[in-house]
Amino acid sequence: MPSISNPSIGNWVVQSSGVSKRPIEGAFTIDVEDWYQSSVDFDAPITERVVRNVNTILELLKEFDVKATFFVQGRVAETFPKLLEDILAEGHEIQSHGYSHRPLFGMSRAELRQELELSRKTVEDACGVSVTAFRAPDFSIVQHNLWALEILAESGFTVDSSIFPIKMKRYGIAGWETGPRYYPLQNGASIWEVPVAVWGRGRVRIPMAGGGYFRLLPEIILKRALHSMIASKRMVVIYCHPYEFSKNELDAYRKTVSRRFRFTQNLGRGAFVKRIRSLLQEFAFGRFDELLSSRGIK
Ligand SMILES: [Zn+2]
Repeated sequence: MPSISNPSIGNWVVQSSGVSKRPIEGAFTIDVEDWYQSSVDFDAPITERVVRNVNTILELLKEFDVKATFFVQGRVAETFPKLLEDILAEGHEIQSHGYSHRPLFGMSRAELRQELELSRKTVEDACGVSVTAFRAPDFSIVQHNLWALEILAESGFTVDSSIFPIKMKRYGIAGWETGPRYYPLQNGASIWEVPVAVWGRGRVRIPMAGGGYFRLLPEIILKRALHSMIASKRMVVIYCHPYEFSKNELDAYRKTVSRRFRFTQNLGRGAFVKRIRSLLQEFAFGRFDELLSSRGIK
């Protein structure tokens, strides 16, 4: 059977010899946090909502037989340790999304060291895995705090996925390498920096990986861009958040959060699950560590 006619669904392809696993095309990653605590009040308690929403994601991933990577915030791990066991039991990878969700660019070296220690300990205590990869809250490693990578390496992290390779309003570094890079640090250590997906041609770069663009771009454009990145052997790392899987997540905060903020945060959420289903159907997504090892990165 010619390969062009081989039907494929998510991670599987039907060949004349039977059904087999497709090579991984991209990493599906989730930053596990609770919306109100991570976006409005860092001192607020973590609510059950995060558990409900992660369970929705686990069901969806199971349906398409896709394994993913969950970057779990330490305070979530501390509050709901069983959730991490459930994630692991399904064969997914667990890594770190910091402890408090405070942005790194507001921290001193000593504060960052403490944040990283807590972020690692809470996740490791909850599920017993060894944490080696990190994604900063709100991509908060920028030009002026690139030294944060040194502290990450000193704290035992070998891979980071915190630098957004486009300058955005609050984060990102213009012109940063869009592919993985083994980044030498001033303290003599090195760390793999693996940015999330952006589509680029010349100086034009468009975020493809997650957030508002990911929710709002016409699906056909998003898919075309992802296909072209995969065809040119670019690393495709996409990210999402548990609360994006809940249409009514923000309704509970009508009295405490302004209408305008809720409106911008809510854009594109109505059709989000449908979009994710369609992507899981069409692309062979997998775990971040699987994608890295397929490129010789450990
Ligand atoms: Zn986050």
